[in-house]
Amino acid sequence: MPHSTPIPSRTQVAIIGAGPAGLLLGQLLHCAGIDTLIVERQSAEHVLGRIRAGVIEQTTADALDRAGVGARMHREGLPHDGVELCVDGQRHRIDLVGLTGGKRVVVYGQTEVTRDLMDARAAAKLPTVYEAQEVSIHGFESGKPFVRFRSNGELHDVACDFIAGCDGFHGVCRPSIPASALHTFERVYPFGWLGVLVDAPPVSDELIYVRSPRGFALCSMRSRTRSRYYLQCPLNNKVEQWSDVAFWDELRRRLDPQAAADLVTGPSIEKSIAPLRSFVSEPMRFGKLFLAGDAAHIVPPTGAKGLNLAASDVLLLADAMIEHYDEHSDAGLDHYSAHALARVWKAERFSWWLTSLMHNFPENAGFGERMQEAELAYLMGSRAAQQVLAENYVGLPMDARR
Ligand SMILES: Cc1cc2nc3c(=O)[nH]c(=O)nc-3n(C[C@H](O)[C@H](O)[C@H](O)COP(=O)(O)OP(=O)(O)OC[C@H]3O[C@@H](n4cnc5c(N)ncnc54)[C@H](O)[C@@H]3O)c2cc1C
Repeated sequence: MPHSTPIPSRTQVAIIGAGPAGLLLGQLLHCAGIDTLIVERQSAEHVLGRIRAGVIEQTTADALDRAGVGARMHREGLPHDGVELCVDGQRHRIDLVGLTGGKRVVVYGQTEVTRDLMDARAAAKLPTVYEAQEVSIHGFESGKPFVRFRSNGELHDVACDFIAGCDGFHGVCRPSIPASALHTFERVYPFGWLGVLVDAPPVSDELIYVRSPRGFALCSMRSRTRSRYYLQCPLNNKVEQWSDVAFWDELRRRLDPQAAADLVTGPSIEKSIAPLRSFVSEPMRFGKLFLAGDAAHIVPPTGAKGLNLAASDVLLLADAMIEHYDEHSDAGLDHYSAHALARVWKAERFSWWLTSLMHNFPENAGFGERMQEAELAYLMGSRAAQQVLAENYVGLPMDARR
């Protein structure tokens, strides 16, 4: 993991952020013989400690294979052929494989993806600066980009051809673009997700998305012995308000009787509350700066799209950069933003739709609630509607255009 490769004074692509987007971009470019430096403000241990996504689309799995880091995912990941929707105490299975002509998803934690990418980067002795301070980016509008940061007390300027802003929603890259050049779109949802990680076998072999009169719940997992559960909760709730006992009691109340009876509980090993947000910033390129992943867009986690979108951005960006260096063509770079955004908006739509369908909206009693019920009844009775859900859930093809 962390290693002490010297910090270069020049690189081809300076990548800000060692989350999945930054690490995967670094690995894909390395496989194509392109130099990168990754600058990350946290420690590697901190990055690995963040419990986040767990559902990998085929496109992401293919990207990890292409980057040469897919072996453990294939060994330890759990292929899922379907998901279940539980509506008012009744479970309905969505047959992902049957509805999509054979496509499925793999359950493999973001922490594991990150670890595999970090290990590969360390094995290749590629430079990564963890715990970088005062990270800033410069010159990307004038054609002479460079990255400045402090590491172990020493100030570094690293010149580069391109800067990849893979530094997440709260990073430094997007805010470095003049506000007048950006158009942002945002929806903040009036609730959060309270998540618990537990070393106990999952309640079911497949994920269960639960809509109940008490609010949404999700039964997810990271492995056959480690489960991840979520409850929709008010935005003003604090983690300290939720004892483990209160969490399990509330989850049981939202589940169907069989799942409530089968639920294996245990002490939480992580508990956190995440707000839900839809956000897109356009365009995803400004001069020599390219944004990818959460730096440019956020989806509510309901559709399991955040990590997968980060991976598909990075695939497009890596191919565009490889085309630049190998074929001296900037066509891919010029189209990157439009191409990525076409896919991003489709994933935004799906994540917004599934969130809107499955959660209780405090202001939604009456007409809105009836609309949810009618849509769910239609979904359960229509193969065509299920097919739409399934093809979005497993991930749209990479060439999805506006
Ligand atoms: C609580 C939570 C639960 C989630 N659950 C799911 C889920 O179930 N399914 C799903 O698909 N998605 C989920 N997501 C979303 C998913 O985790 C993200 O979409 C994914 O991490 C995006 O990867 P990224 O590399 O773009 O950004 P990040 O993972 O955020 O990585 C950005 C990196 O940049 C670093 N950074 C930030 N600022 C700077 C700076 N100034 N200088 C240097 N480095 C910087 C950060 O420390 C971080 O390591 C969840 C997110 C959260 C927060």
